[in-house]
Amino acid sequence: MSNDEPTPLAGCTVEDLRAFLTTLGEPAYRAKQVFQAVQQRGVIDAADMTTLPLALRERLGSLVRPALQPLEVQTSADGTAKFLFGLADGKRVEAVLIPENERNTVCVSTQVGCPMACVFCASGVKGLIRNLTTAEIAEQLLRVRAHLGVRPTNVVLMGMGEPLLNLPAVEAAIRLWIDRDGLGFSPRRITVSTAGTPSKVDRLLELELGVNLAISLHAADDETRARLVPGSPPGRTEALVEAGARYARKSGRDVTVEYVLIAGENDAPEDADALARLVAGRHIHVNLIPLNPVSHRPDLLAPSGRVANAFADHLRDLGASVTLRTQRGEDIAAACGQLALERALTE
Ligand code: SAH
Repeated sequence: MSNDEPTPLAGCTVEDLRAFLTTLGEPAYRAKQVFQAVQQRGVIDAADMTTLPLALRERLGSLVRPALQPLEVQTSADGTAKFLFGLADGKRVEAVLIPENERNTVCVSTQVGCPMACVFCASGVKGLIRNLTTAEIAEQLLRVRAHLGVRPTNVVLMGMGEPLLNLPAVEAAIRLWIDRDGLGFSPRRITVSTAGTPSKVDRLLELELGVNLAISLHAADDETRARLVPGSPPGRTEALVEAGARYARKSGRDVTVEYVLIAGENDAPEDADALARLVAGRHIHVNLIPLNPVSHRPDLLAPSGRVANAFADHLRDLGASVTLRTQRGEDIAAACGQLALERALTE
């Protein structure tokens, strides 16, 4: 961190801030004050850091910049809110707030675009544009927190992008969120979602962050998975589930398999048989998500409610633990897979 280039505070640890403030001739204890203002109270603008002397606020104001420019908040009839943020290079990303009973879950993006190219997901239509920085990831949660007025209860890294392909920045953002001088988030309330590879899941385990894991499987055999998730290396469907099982066993955290149900693609009884075999005895919960239609693939449809329920029942009969999910935020295009349509990627 240099002091001649504006720096986003949302990505700084207390140590980063200490080094930075020392170069400005400030006492070291100011670092914690700035960190707490940013991470705990979501104060991004130095001018609003009322715990600091006015002169320092003014000085910081000319040296630092936010990572995100809030552009728009759209609220759905069901309370779901979608936040559109501008980045310094003109790209855009989105985060979503999903209120549900006592829960406020924030869905955060980790990349602009996505290389996984899941056929049913809008985020991957233009491939990967770039990784988000730690500050760009961390600040999404701080901004939503400031909007909400209280600390959200849960965070899911299920927005645009593949978190495990941007792991250093994702790890740093999670460490900021769980810092006791910051939001003090419990890692049990954070879920990292991946459509990626077994080795990356093992790498996440090694980091010992203690977060939950969701595996976007969508298929129970290699052939179907290669068709639905073409950006993922082929031939590793079972190895991915095994890596999930290792993660569950060694971390003690929840592991879920996400499975988007698409009519005629992966919703046959034989698919349920194969999926049940994959998760059997592995303490992995299955989350079935009927496809949410996306404009770039009008040919893909959700199965009927009857077929979706039959698929879920079939899995249960075979001993799997299963939830059939309902969609939120569809009217504002904030439902799963709808983030980052054209305008979010361009400009
Ligand atoms: N790349 C990571 C993070 C993105 S979240 C991953 O793939 O896990 C991806 C999740 O969004 C999928 O597991 C699925 O649950 C959901 N999703 C994406 N597109 C969808 C669609 N069109 N309908 C329903 N769910 C979708």
